[in-house]
Amino acid sequence: MLKADNVLVLAPHTDDGELGCGATIAKLIEQGSKLFYAAFSTADESVPAHFPKNQLELEVREATKILGIPQDNVLIFKYQVRKLNYVRQEILEELIRIKPIIQPDLVFLPSANDIHQDHRTIYEEGLRAFKFCSILGYELIWNNLSFTADTFVSLEEQHIQLKIKALEAYKTQEGKPYMSNAFIRSLAVVRGVQSGRPLAEAFENIRINL
Ligand SMILES: [Zn+2]
Repeated sequence: MLKADNVLVLAPHTDDGELGCGATIAKLIEQGSKLFYAAFSTADESVPAHFPKNQLELEVREATKILGIPQDNVLIFKYQVRKLNYVRQEILEELIRIKPIIQPDLVFLPSANDIHQDHRTIYEEGLRAFKFCSILGYELIWNNLSFTADTFVSLEEQHIQLKIKALEAYKTQEGKPYMSNAFIRSLAVVRGVQSGRPLAEAFENIRINL
């Protein structure tokens, strides 16, 4: 049984949190946890020309609202995409600043085996800032050369539906294979079969501090 009062999701880019643990976010909110979401780059440079530059900020606001996260709990930082490692100390200081405000008992961040440079930075600085909390690493399989799926969250159909609906808010990301409903559902089925439940999301146990 997954239980936490204050939960913080660290997303290097808008959409990483929804992709990695969107259905678990929906389940935790349903169970009464307080959810916080921090995104570190809105990748303004990568937004297709026909969208406004702040489109990803609008999309993450919409997606997190669909999952049920209060908008005051969504923190959006404007660091440059693919350059988070240039400002890792600033990011660490932001994390240390928000820690006593949020007081998370559970933190989600990218897997230790994620090879994207920005994801790696958020994994490392997140671990540094929240080493005394419980920490679960989420999977983004296109960036994971390996993944230790040793922790599972059992999910209901409505949680997967909310994850799919939240990801549909990302109009800029349409067409990416990992954004498809089929992929999201298939991965939940795979992780469900692996854990003896109909549907699940898998995580890496990075720190458990009960
Ligand atoms: Zn990302």
